[in-house]
Amino acid sequence: MEFVDQSLPCRDCGQPFIWTAGEQAFFKDKGLVNLPVRCSACRAQRKARLGIQDRAQAEVVCADCGVATTVPFVPRNGNPVYCSKCFSRQRDATDPVAAIATQ
Ligand SMILES: [Zn+2]
Ligand SMILES: [Zn+2]
Repeated sequence: MEFVDQSLPCRDCGQPFIWTAGEQAFFKDKGLVNLPVRCSACRAQRKARLGIQDRAQAEVVCADCGVATTVPFVPRNGNPVYCSKCFSRQRDATDPVAAIATQ
């Protein structure tokens, strides 16, 4: 099967980018099913961004004891975040037997 360069719209910047015949051959060879959705520039940017997020530490205030702490994720709005001490206490407090008794 012959591949020809295709122009695809980039999901991020909206600019058409060229999906080359060589890339298509590689794609087919690997049995990939999801078409590329970003131009190489946006792909590189996204990778860089994700790389930074992987190491991100969010500074938060514990919802229980109020101590400042860092967590290895970005808390979503409205969700309480606890320091590690309070977190393990909460976890221990969630006793399955007690949970059943209150139902
Ligand atoms: Zn782009
Ligand atoms: Zn705490």
